[in-house]
Amino acid sequence: MSPSDSQTTGFGTRAIHAGQNPDPITGAVIPPVSLSTTFKQSAAGVHTGYEYSRSGNPTRENFETAVAALEGGKYGVAFASGSSVTATIINTLHSGGHLISVNDVYGGTYRYFTKVAVHNGVDATFVNLSNAANIKDKFKPNTKLVWLESPTNPTLRIIDIRAVAEYAHQNGAILVVDNTFMSPYFQNPLALGADIVVHSVTKYINGHSDVVMGVAVTNDKALYEKLTFMQNSMGAVPSAFDSFLARRGLMTLEIRMQRHEQNAKAIAEFLQKNEHVEEVIYPGLPSHPEHELAKRQQRGFGGMISFRVKGTLDNVNKMLGNLQHITLAESLGGVESLVEVPAVMTHAAVSAEDRAALGITDTLVRFSVGIENVEDLVQDLQQALDKAY
Ligand SMILES: *Cc1c(COP(=O)(O)O)cnc(C)c1O
Repeated sequence: MSPSDSQTTGFGTRAIHAGQNPDPITGAVIPPVSLSTTFKQSAAGVHTGYEYSRSGNPTRENFETAVAALEGGKYGVAFASGSSVTATIINTLHSGGHLISVNDVYGGTYRYFTKVAVHNGVDATFVNLSNAANIKDKFKPNTKLVWLESPTNPTLRIIDIRAVAEYAHQNGAILVVDNTFMSPYFQNPLALGADIVVHSVTKYINGHSDVVMGVAVTNDKALYEKLTFMQNSMGAVPSAFDSFLARRGLMTLEIRMQRHEQNAKAIAEFLQKNEHVEEVIYPGLPSHPEHELAKRQQRGFGGMISFRVKGTLDNVNKMLGNLQHITLAESLGGVESLVEVPAVMTHAAVSAEDRAALGITDTLVRFSVGIENVEDLVQDLQQALDKAY
């Protein structure tokens, strides 16, 4: 099945079949993992399309084809991590280039922009994009790229992707959207005007918290050629085995995302009614400030919730210490439920001043709702909150 079938087949069908052709020799329905680093040529320079596994690998290509089909894109390019996707894309900018990023961008992306890209002569401006028009006066003659995430992390603000894409294009810049939180199941940024969509495959796409990997998808042939050139030149490629695991994870993406969302909705409603909870942030709640925008640009609201409990970090720690099924850990998007406290964990490197401005208080808890039985999750939260006060 080719990615062009993405117009005619359903998401779950593409997730299972795109790029996944039975082995032509044995008929194996799941193609074998292609571990070979090199490929036999029939005459010097005459080959099957594969020469050396850094420049092209059948297992990796299977994964790339599948993700492209799910994002409604023509081309997928896989990397060793989400962070190496960022590094590779920014390395396509020349020294003297300028980029604009949403202010509450993923911490590792912020670190790359401010501590690495600048040494290569690429300058970044951060802007609050809750109102897309805020970007208007941030463009410079050398602005090449705009980078955003929606929903943002951890405050789950929704950004109008179509509006930002228009401003970027009017100013001769491309738009890159990090779609990790939504997964291709709930949102397709290319259809909203983005030029490149990126994922930390480590999260929902692989979905089982056992692979670190990344991917970029585009419809633009010139961008694709730049990315594959950089993929081969910088060499941050995923292993064949990780590509196989991520391809396998992808097969259940549709049903996992449905369950993540179903559980998240029930938990958001439970938390809203809990006496110890001050605020629940979930784009699926009508009380969310961008609920209408989320309904418009997403096909669902996903599995991430943030909530603010009453009291202090001490209450938060007591609650976390009493959880039985929900694990205190960084990361997200796996089948298991994970909670974390951004102020002291994922966002500890953000200055106290910036954290305050972004609403990342000590009592804000980020919850990656897993696909366990929701009654167990609700009961776990209930008893842990009761013990915390
Ligand atoms: C985790 C994450 C990344 C980085 O991906 P890695 O696979 O950890 O390198 C980038 N963006 C978002 C939104 C993430 O959650």
